[in-house]
Amino acid sequence: MLACVPCASYEAAELTPAVERLLEPWGGFAALVRPGMTVFLKPNMLSAKSPAAAATTHPAVVEVVAAACRARGARVVIGDSPPLTMKRVEDFWEATGYRAAADRAGAELVALEREPAREITVTGPRGPLALRITDWYWRADLVINLCKLKTHNLTVLTGAVKNHFGLVPGLQKAQLHLRLPRATEFGALLADLAAAVPMGLHVMDGIVGMDGNGPAGGRPVPTGVLLAARDPVTVDLGASAVAGIEPADQPILRQCRARGWGPASLDEVVRHGDDPRRWRFAGFQVPAVPLLYRVPEPLFNVLRRFIWARPALVPARCIRCGACARVCAARAAELGRDGVRFRYGRCISCFCCLEVCPVEAIAMRSSPLIQVALYLRAWKRKLQGRSV
Ligand code: SF4
Ligand code: SF4
Repeated sequence: MLACVPCASYEAAELTPAVERLLEPWGGFAALVRPGMTVFLKPNMLSAKSPAAAATTHPAVVEVVAAACRARGARVVIGDSPPLTMKRVEDFWEATGYRAAADRAGAELVALEREPAREITVTGPRGPLALRITDWYWRADLVINLCKLKTHNLTVLTGAVKNHFGLVPGLQKAQLHLRLPRATEFGALLADLAAAVPMGLHVMDGIVGMDGNGPAGGRPVPTGVLLAARDPVTVDLGASAVAGIEPADQPILRQCRARGWGPASLDEVVRHGDDPRRWRFAGFQVPAVPLLYRVPEPLFNVLRRFIWARPALVPARCIRCGACARVCAARAAELGRDGVRFRYGRCISCFCCLEVCPVEAIAMRSSPLIQVALYLRAWKRKLQGRSV
């Protein structure tokens, strides 16, 4: 079951009934939430940026869901684990509007880095991996994934499956990028993690999504929908249709498919509300990653000099805060006297530095071969009447 409800605004007058309609297939909040329950809301709080940047789940969505759960007598706890390179988590709460939203809804915000965590073992692409998961995942009676429709320079789209990664508090996330540098392996880890810690409901904020240089520095785009499902793969399939990106071009969804998890396409899904394919956003800009990802590994290793995408500094914007150097587990970004320097021999193209840069001073640069392929792909998609 996939629910897709059009919604063009974060104003309560439009958003509140849209969220209620979205949850109708599961009996609404009345069926999902009972008095005395603890509900843990897991938004995407990637950056300490204003909601207008579309880098985070909009606080209005968080507030509507939190208030509805509170109205049914639940304790509501909101938490995520953003990359804390320079700022405190409290700064994220202020900038994203989550502090005000939580106060209005009567919910609590928790700093997952300061809370207990439990270790679990997930099936990793190179063998079992021990991961620490926030204790709130187990302490809650219901966990609701409040994810965002956005592009991602490593995983193409970031949505419901990837939002589970924020259940892992602290710097372990950056270390995992280093251990599993290729998008295929990282996608496998995210699929295994989401399967190991399932959430009760997945709601995607696609009212204003992000395309281009996501997940932190892309362009806000009015994609105009809310999506919901009981399983995250179904929600991400809906988001793929809105973005006009084939699931086969996304490492996470390919890995989910390889595990037999989720529907293969929207044709296998029972729909409530609109068909997300009707809401395909013309002009949605897709990162270059799918082109890299489609190259088989042995060929990729041979052609490495000619097919690459990597971070590049925009010197005029850099404020020399050092966040990129702090987050880089590969020690490929260095802040010296003359500013930031990237050591491409070490870089694993994880793009964590792009995610944390507060002023969008890091761009993604790709090789001439990739640029030619991008140009050809844009023409092909135009001829097919799809987004670029
Ligand atoms: S420089 Fe940026 S993209 Fe390269 S490894 Fe470091 S964080 Fe990842
Ligand atoms: S590139 Fe961005 S994150 Fe790195 S030092 Fe400059 S402003 Fe800070």
